[in-house]
Amino acid sequence: MKLIVATGNAGKLVEIRRLLAESAIEVAGLAELEDVPEIVEDGETFEANARKKALVVARLTGCLTLADDSGLAVEALNGAPGVYSARYAGAEADDAANNRKLLEALQGLPQEQRKAAFHCAMALCWPDGQCRSFYGCLEGRILQEPRGDGGFGYDPLFLVPECGQSLAELPLTVKNRVSHRGQALRQVVIWLQKNRKKGHDGFG
Ligand code: IMP
Repeated sequence: MKLIVATGNAGKLVEIRRLLAESAIEVAGLAELEDVPEIVEDGETFEANARKKALVVARLTGCLTLADDSGLAVEALNGAPGVYSARYAGAEADDAANNRKLLEALQGLPQEQRKAAFHCAMALCWPDGQCRSFYGCLEGRILQEPRGDGGFGYDPLFLVPECGQSLAELPLTVKNRVSHRGQALRQVVIWLQKNRKKGHDGFG
């Protein structure tokens, strides 16, 4: 089965490919497609953005498409940066600028007031407009300074309490086992395998 993964984020694609490596699902990223228009993420929820991305690409390619919209919600910031996680420090901001802004926003706050969670909504959409959504969530804390050099985005600032390490310190296999994206994608795989066996239409 071929699945288009509608993301231009190289870090996400690496994780999704690794998670799907042992399934019979062949993954194509957006970089392998031509003439995909820029998709503006203007939804108010992770789910709305994921559906928008997956639907545009499914209709354009005629293929089953998966999109992920994810981000970080910090309790002391009333859920910010949330759906704005990728552009927290501005439209052109990179990961380093977003991380700096987050540390500044939480400056002086003690450990117990630095609770945060990563959220992930995944949308699986068919060219005829049908969609299904899946969710994952990982709770943790924002560190006082970055730790580790793996992963992407806010990984160096996100402490996973059960592991005692930041997401950027964990090997990818461990991140994928606990992460918001890993949780959502495992549900996608289970759903696809179950419904494929049942002869659900729309599988190419
Ligand atoms: P979008 O889903 O492409 O809108 O962007 C999500 C943004 O949230 C990324 O650019 C990161 O800043 C952040 N993010 C989402 N998932 C992760 C993750 O697993 N680790 C670190 N940052 C993440």
